[in-house]
Amino acid sequence: MPNSSDDSDQSGPSTPKKAKKIHYKQKFTDEWLKDNSFKTWLKRDSKDPYRAVCFMCDAKLIADRVVIKRHGEGAKHVKRTTAAPAQSSIATAFEKVEQFDDDKCKASEIKLAAFMEEHKISMRVMDNHYVS
Ligand SMILES: [Zn+2]
Repeated sequence: MPNSSDDSDQSGPSTPKKAKKIHYKQKFTDEWLKDNSFKTWLKRDSKDPYRAVCFMCDAKLIADRVVIKRHGEGAKHVKRTTAAPAQSSIATAFEKVEQFDDDKCKASEIKLAAFMEEHKISMRVMDNHYVS
């Protein structure tokens, strides 16, 4: 089956619109890595010289000082760079709390069983208690 020529005609006129968006492409500059406000999280994209990478956010940025600066000031990025260690400790703390609660539940069950055993409280006594 031959390809319909209509498809290529339709996609043709839409491509020049994209070309209008292209502005000055700037290559990654090593000087940005010396900048105190960037150097802790910025690295160059090994595959694309026109891109920069924030390895804290795992975000690809356009190699433009303004874009990089804006990213560095963004709430998401600031949260990541300042609260990254705290976040992980909160996660582990939650895990610990969950485990602790679970253990406590089991422990109290065991304690109750032991108490009943110790004082020879039968299930019938419990039933009577609930009836009256
Ligand atoms: Zn970032």
